[in-house]
Amino acid sequence: MLAIRNTRALSTKAPLIQHRLLLASSRAVCGSKIQHAGFSNKTPVQTATHPLKSAAVPVAGYQSMTATTPPASPSFQQNNILAKLPTPALLRNLLIQNISAIPPVLSFFLFFLKRYSNFITKTPVLRHALHYFFYVHYCAGATKSEIARTVEGLRKLGYKGVILNYAKEVEMPGLSVTSGAEKAAQAQALHEQQVGQWLDGTVKGIAYAPAGDYVAIKFSGAGTRVVEMLEHNHVKPDDIFADALEKVCEAARQKGVKILVDAEHQCQQAAIDRWTMDMMEKYNKGDNVVIFNTYQMYLKASPRVMSQHLATAESRNFNFGAKIVRGAYLGSDPRDAIHDTKADTDAAFDAAAEKLATYHTANPRPAIKVSTVIGSHNATSIRKIRALRQHQASAGQPVAEVVFSQLMGMADELSLSLTEADPEAGFVKGDCGVYKYVTWGTMQECIMYLARRAEENRDAVACARDSRSLFWNELKRRWTPFAKSS
Ligand SMILES: Cc1cc2nc3c(=O)[nH]c(=O)nc-3n(C[C@H](O)[C@H](O)[C@H](O)COP(=O)(O)OP(=O)(O)OC[C@H]3O[C@@H](n4cnc5c(N)ncnc54)[C@H](O)[C@@H]3O)c2cc1C
Repeated sequence: MLAIRNTRALSTKAPLIQHRLLLASSRAVCGSKIQHAGFSNKTPVQTATHPLKSAAVPVAGYQSMTATTPPASPSFQQNNILAKLPTPALLRNLLIQNISAIPPVLSFFLFFLKRYSNFITKTPVLRHALHYFFYVHYCAGATKSEIARTVEGLRKLGYKGVILNYAKEVEMPGLSVTSGAEKAAQAQALHEQQVGQWLDGTVKGIAYAPAGDYVAIKFSGAGTRVVEMLEHNHVKPDDIFADALEKVCEAARQKGVKILVDAEHQCQQAAIDRWTMDMMEKYNKGDNVVIFNTYQMYLKASPRVMSQHLATAESRNFNFGAKIVRGAYLGSDPRDAIHDTKADTDAAFDAAAEKLATYHTANPRPAIKVSTVIGSHNATSIRKIRALRQHQASAGQPVAEVVFSQLMGMADELSLSLTEADPEAGFVKGDCGVYKYVTWGTMQECIMYLARRAEENRDAVACARDSRSLFWNELKRRWTPFAKSS
């Protein structure tokens, strides 16, 4: 049941005219790329690079994010934002959050999941339990029709679309011979096979993704030789992987799907950046932004790297696609490359988001288009950027091309809040494009992904208390007869 049980009227703080302005600007700047299949050059759209005619206000650099920093308490703590969530999803969220809150139970679950994955998937009772309580919660399915159903369900909740990520990791068997020409031939055959598997999965993902949505790819997923090339910082991929990347970009361009290249370990990142920038240069032409690089803002070097990339895009005249995240390899990347404190990472993240979202206003005649994906579960950062876009709309400026993404099965209260108005903060409904990051694949293929999500829940459990009580309250509201509807 997806009915919205609690909708609140817009207050005078969010007047209708402002609402219309924002929707109009959003549509003009990014809507057409999100809504329509393909990136047709025949119907050029007005973008941040070509300010709206109605933007009569002189385009000036945005004053300061702090000037419009929204109230600290996110709307999902004030509004009944979970009313949209179907009851099974509510129950699964509660179950997972409660398991995660008991470390010994979670540790046992993780151990069992990793150690006995084959046994679990072959034992009907365990397979069904894992399927119903975890797989369905975090994963989109394994076939085109299952994925389409999941995407449809997410759209009904108010999300614009998805970022599809294929869970299958390529097999990495050792070589059976140890030296000589035979070893080289075997390694080459293995490389071709691994890149072939990766390409097959990625192209399927593009075929399964709705036009206008995103597909996330990881270079390291293409096997041993590709990982070696990344770690040795090769200037370019070899012909086999270059050919595979070309096919992926071409398939994405033809379908109108955008490719997000994930950021990985710091020791691989320089090569990932370079190869991705080459792809951007080739495919982000005209009105198109097909390729996005990812910037991990916990790395001290990221603001500099991102600025250099933006300058390169400008000087070579191609559009810049950026996904910004905080960074997932805190435990394995060199500590001295990472900001000393979480507060420093937060500040770097917010500054990067602001820089990207104000590029078109800071450059009165921007030659290129900047498109941004914010991958984060941090409500404070997201509300800052939402406020900034709101400010641009009400100042008559073109609104930055920014979308927001959270993982499917996580931070649902945040994602849902972004699909709704928040009168107290002056946010209007429809101002945010929210894309859930969903992993697809068979249950066997997704098991390691599920284990990683469980581990992440363990790390996040300290801050999950508020979230748990939100879910409990919503459940009580649904199941208590004559309960108030807000
Ligand atoms: C849609 C999406 C796509 C993603 N893609 C990628 C990707 O391609 N590559 C990747 O690496 N990650 C990726 N991530 C994960 C992301 O990097 C974060 O690990 C995760 O989202 C948690 O950060 P947060 O912004 O949600 O907020 P928070 O929970 O507020 O921040 C947690 C993060 O802060 C940082 N941090 C924590 N403690 C410290 C400290 N003491 N000092 C410095 N920094 C600290 C770490 O990065 C940590 O992950 C993605 C996440 C999402 C939602």
